[in-house]
Amino acid sequence: MNDDFERLRGPVPGPRTAALLARLRSSESHNVTFLSDEFPVFWESASGATVTDVDGNRYIDLTAAFGVANVGHANPRVVAAIAEQAALMTHGMGDVHPTAVKAQLLERLPQILPAGLTKTFLATTGSEAVEAAFKTAMLATGKPAFASYRNSYHGLSLGALSVIGIEKFRAPFRGAVVETGLLLEYPRAERDDPAAALAAARAALSARNDIAAIVIEPMQGRAGEVVPPYGYLSGLRALCDELGIVLIFDEIFTGFGRTGAWFCANHENVSPDIICIGKAMGGGFPISAAVARAEIMDAWPVSAGEALHTSTYLGNPMGCAAALATIDELARFALPERAAALGVELGARLETLRRRGSVLDVRGRGLMWGIELTDARVAARVVTQALARGVIVLQAGPEGNALSITPPLVIAPSQLHRALDIVEELL
Ligand code: PMP
Repeated sequence: MNDDFERLRGPVPGPRTAALLARLRSSESHNVTFLSDEFPVFWESASGATVTDVDGNRYIDLTAAFGVANVGHANPRVVAAIAEQAALMTHGMGDVHPTAVKAQLLERLPQILPAGLTKTFLATTGSEAVEAAFKTAMLATGKPAFASYRNSYHGLSLGALSVIGIEKFRAPFRGAVVETGLLLEYPRAERDDPAAALAAARAALSARNDIAAIVIEPMQGRAGEVVPPYGYLSGLRALCDELGIVLIFDEIFTGFGRTGAWFCANHENVSPDIICIGKAMGGGFPISAAVARAEIMDAWPVSAGEALHTSTYLGNPMGCAAALATIDELARFALPERAAALGVELGARLETLRRRGSVLDVRGRGLMWGIELTDARVAARVVTQALARGVIVLQAGPEGNALSITPPLVIAPSQLHRALDIVEELL
């Protein structure tokens, strides 16, 4: 566990960032990176729970870089696994001539996933994993439509957009996005009764006969760390069984220890029909997967020489090696248990923030917490000022009015508290 704190060498952003920013301004699609005089900084290196920018300023990272660096930035064993594999072979032919390391990973996944999830479709990004799950559900049920939740986030490719619950991402592309989806209300632990929420889901789903699958984040991430009431996920499992609907858990954010269990589904001891995983899976190397119960995945036709669905980088050997090393590191340091223990401490500390005038709510689980603020401008200001003080934190929430606290699971308690001291001062 890395014990470094923030260390600022000069102004934030520094001169090297400013020079690179000018180059990016003229060369990158201006939709991609928000550029201002105060934000962002160009990252140069990262280790454990800290990031160092091109001007030598070091920051404590409360984001795990979108929930990816669960085993720590540049985890030495993950780096070594990628380097060893890279020296042997960087790329194979995923769906034609496979590699031993792919077979090894596919055998390993069911050992850590919720029970019954045994057959895997590998991909590269989260949205691809979601779309592989959708195609699987369509083949398994013969139905075309999907149910999802308000404020949900499942990726931005056109197929994933058809279920996203944040309208601004879909609006400009309406013409090309399938509009037959069903949007349900995501119940909140602090407000909603699980039985009432399940009755509402039952009514909405029963009114349709074209729903292949329901996709749910077992805890919403981008929506600002929203926890469903206990009992909702297991109730949804029973409802899907009754109605013949495939249950898909999108654990792209919540997976690999983030919420204080290997997978968020473990908290209710429930297994979906398909789980989507990505982000932290490769410890920073892009790899994702949809993993299903065998009888669901076996709805795909047997390959007769050409896969009906595949992609160039499916099963990339460096990704498979990185994922195996990541799983080993999560187990070696018992990081899911660590996230649970540290999460109790973090939650207790965040609870004290409720006294601040700008804080409306705090909620979360494990090392995935949200601080809901009065408005997005306050959140944006805290993010910028935290950066200037040596802490990296992200805005979340459908309106951007929350701060998201999702540090690497290896963060030292002293680092976490130091970063929270700074955030608290700013609030
Ligand atoms: N699902 C969830 C729950 C996510 O948080 C994300 C990414 N933030 C995605 C899907 C999409 O993954 P990607 O950006 O890799 O396509």
